[in-house]
Amino acid sequence: MKKDMEQFLHKFIEKIGSYLEGNSLETTPVVEYVKATELEEKIDLSLELKGKSLDDIFSMVEEYLHYSVRTSHPNFANQLYMGFNFPAFVGEMVVALTNTSMATFEIAPLANLIENKIINKMNGLIGWYAQDDTPGGIMVPGGSYANMVAMLMARNKICPTAKQEGMPHNKFVLFVSDRSHYSFDKGVNILGIGTKNCITVASDKHGRMIPEALAEAIVEAKAKKLIPFFVAATSGTTVHGAFDPLNPIAKICKKNNLWFHIDGAWGGSVLLSKKHRNLLDGCHQADSFTWDAHKMMGVPFHASMILCKNKKNLCEASAGGGESYIFHNTENDQFDSGPNSLQCGRRVDCLKIWFAWKHLGDEGYEKLINDHFDRAIILTKMIQDNSRLELICEPQSLNICFRVLPNDPTGGKEFDLNSYNLALREKLVAEGKFLVNYSTDDDGTIFFRYISSNPMVTKDYLDKFIKTLLEMEI
Ligand SMILES: *Cc1c(COP(=O)(O)O)cnc(C)c1O
Repeated sequence: MKKDMEQFLHKFIEKIGSYLEGNSLETTPVVEYVKATELEEKIDLSLELKGKSLDDIFSMVEEYLHYSVRTSHPNFANQLYMGFNFPAFVGEMVVALTNTSMATFEIAPLANLIENKIINKMNGLIGWYAQDDTPGGIMVPGGSYANMVAMLMARNKICPTAKQEGMPHNKFVLFVSDRSHYSFDKGVNILGIGTKNCITVASDKHGRMIPEALAEAIVEAKAKKLIPFFVAATSGTTVHGAFDPLNPIAKICKKNNLWFHIDGAWGGSVLLSKKHRNLLDGCHQADSFTWDAHKMMGVPFHASMILCKNKKNLCEASAGGGESYIFHNTENDQFDSGPNSLQCGRRVDCLKIWFAWKHLGDEGYEKLINDHFDRAIILTKMIQDNSRLELICEPQSLNICFRVLPNDPTGGKEFDLNSYNLALREKLVAEGKFLVNYSTDDDGTIFFRYISSNPMVTKDYLDKFIKTLLEMEI
């Protein structure tokens, strides 16, 4: 290896160490917030004629780390991904080092076997075993993409000619809850189904789809001569962390002969815990399942999969082309994942999950998920016990939605709670101490959404978070 690369790597390893150490120091901000226009001025973003040395690149690494959001810092609870898993991090480095595509066994031998094993493991957790159907699945770039593939499989099942002929009409409709992820709208756009045909079903006060409302919506659609073909339940809604009741939804799907999809992008990982997996009771009845391992399972972005009860559906929906130059008849061709994918080149996303799972074991993963829930319960209790904090809904999983009430509510004049909570959040971000997202309910209520899935968070951190919020002057 060249001398300058070797020196770089030594410095780099130290840098990784100090960066990670920084995450556990309270004095380290989660983010050094700089306005976009100012950051653009501060950093040399130009691409120039003359190249830079590796020393220069090292300074750029330092700069990048400095302005990055520390998503594994215990004070980061902004998104559904967070935390740091060392074996998974090693997996990502090995993937970059070996730079290949998943398309065939020939160019990614072990990776194709590993991905298969992971998919089978997940399918087993869902409760799908090879009997009448052979379960399958594939890793995809994101849960949104996985939901799109689920709709594609269902569309091609109800309308087998759609793949070759295109859509025959615009009467196919599907149903999701009003708390479902916005990716369904994106998917129907791509698939030629149309966003107006993505029908939202009412949810209850906990954010769970109301099965009776689903049944009614199907009857209504049929009365309008529309053709229902797909229902997606959400297991772990993005904002409230609600779990739709799967058994009654499955029954409705069966009765109406509809494809039953579960969007478990957020909550699918709850299946790893015997204690909490009842939240997904009935999930084995689904035809397809979206699962993001980069969320609760704490591996780096992205680690998403679309799983399906019958892998024929996935292959029929995705396969086509490439035989002339990439998919050859070989003794290993049944291990080529390419025909099950809409992508040609596909990143190796399985290695990080595999290393993480090998290291933690089923037991370790179960504990990780249980700990996420235990932490959520502690924070919920803190909120309930404090007269200045108000839960927006009873937490069902790891999303704690709450708002802060002012110290002196009367203060002489009318008080706008929404502006107050927004101002608190803005100040939190500007100070860089905590990054916790906010959301708006249908009635306009603005509230904090704390996500409890960072293994580094202790009760101490939660105490400090609450204390900081309550002491903040607006
Ligand atoms: C996060 C999420 C998605 C989207 O997943 P990406 O991997 O971000 O594309 C879909 N559905 C639900 C319920 C989610 O929480």
